[in-house]
Amino acid sequence: MSKISDRLNRLSYSQTFVMSNKAREMKAAGIDVISLTLGEPDFDVPQKIKQAAFDAINENYSHYSPVPGFPELRQAISDKLKRDNHLNYKPTQICVSNGAKQSIINVLSAIINDGDEVILPAPYWVSYDEMVKLVGGTSVFIETSIDTEFKITAEQLEKTITPKTKALLYSSPCNPSGSFYTVEELEAIANVIAKYPEITIISDEIYEFINYEGKHVSIASFPQVYEQTAVINGMSKAYAMTGWRIGYSACPDWLAKACDKVQGQMTSGANTVAQRASITALEMDPSELKFMIDEFHKRRDIVFDLMKDIKGFKCNLPKSAFYFFPDISYFIGKNLNGTEIKDSDDFAMFLLENAKVACVGGVSFGSPECIRFSYAASEAELREAMKRMKDCLGQF
Ligand code: PMP
Ligand code: GLU
Repeated sequence: MSKISDRLNRLSYSQTFVMSNKAREMKAAGIDVISLTLGEPDFDVPQKIKQAAFDAINENYSHYSPVPGFPELRQAISDKLKRDNHLNYKPTQICVSNGAKQSIINVLSAIINDGDEVILPAPYWVSYDEMVKLVGGTSVFIETSIDTEFKITAEQLEKTITPKTKALLYSSPCNPSGSFYTVEELEAIANVIAKYPEITIISDEIYEFINYEGKHVSIASFPQVYEQTAVINGMSKAYAMTGWRIGYSACPDWLAKACDKVQGQMTSGANTVAQRASITALEMDPSELKFMIDEFHKRRDIVFDLMKDIKGFKCNLPKSAFYFFPDISYFIGKNLNGTEIKDSDDFAMFLLENAKVACVGGVSFGSPECIRFSYAASEAELREAMKRMKDCLGQF
């Protein structure tokens, strides 16, 4: 009998961390690996934000904050949602947590009963399906492909809804595909969900600022679904604050109260120093962050050009976030120098061992024919990684 619970045994390790740890171990062993695994900005946190953290320590912000966060931070989030997203949320509708990851699991824990269905458009972010399993729910996937920019249609969504559907969970901009839904597409989705008041939309908007083509639109801005939507966002991507672990949800009152209840028993709230620093971050003008977006944009264009020359990669131009998600079906079913490639996880291992480039296979994103590269890495590393893959794969 396993000492580990059945519930945990059903879960997989997070593949993003599995592959990044593998790359780290190889590097520590002296192997020259380029890691394009984890999606985390490679910039330093802006100085103003760091200073706010020093000040918070000196001002003795060393005790528990209110469970859903300091009122000043919830006010700053409320102001940000108004300024950037035209959304009206009172500070009491906001729950600050240890990263957007926790905000999502708070919401899922609050609404999912055993056997409830959560719709996940595939590809989806690795942790969604595992979180759904953790709270006893069942994920129901909607397949997409590179030909539709990995996006679902309102018709596909409506066909997937059953009496057990409790939530729709997606990210736009999307990790891993780099696509985002347009205003028209979001409106069509909102119109479907509005017909089913028992369904909650969990809209993960953590990449909102990393968008090269459009102005980010939140689905909560459609009045017909405002009362049915949980907006998820956080400090990790826009402010390069991944390790500070601050995320938040903005929800209808009943759901905000439920998140507070979950969090009060699980974590008692988020780190106080990081919360204080986040107030300063949110009060910055978003234009102060533009240098990061411009840099990602430049890297995206470089990688896209170089990727076109890699044999067997079918790639679209991602319009947002910082990932490429090429379709590598060409290699599936082949034997590459003695390695059977059954799916993209095998292919990612092959690349790691043979090209010394680490990426994440698409299986855990729900797309076994694709692989994910993060381009939150230096231009030199990106150029070298593309060269290594081109040389390695050119022979097959
Ligand atoms: N959602 C998506 C789509 C992500 O890529 C990530 C990864 N950082 C998260 C949520 C979690 O972010 P956080 O660091 O705020 O927990
Ligand atoms: N969200 C990032 C990624 O997808 C960080 C890793 C994680 O949280 O899984 O790579």
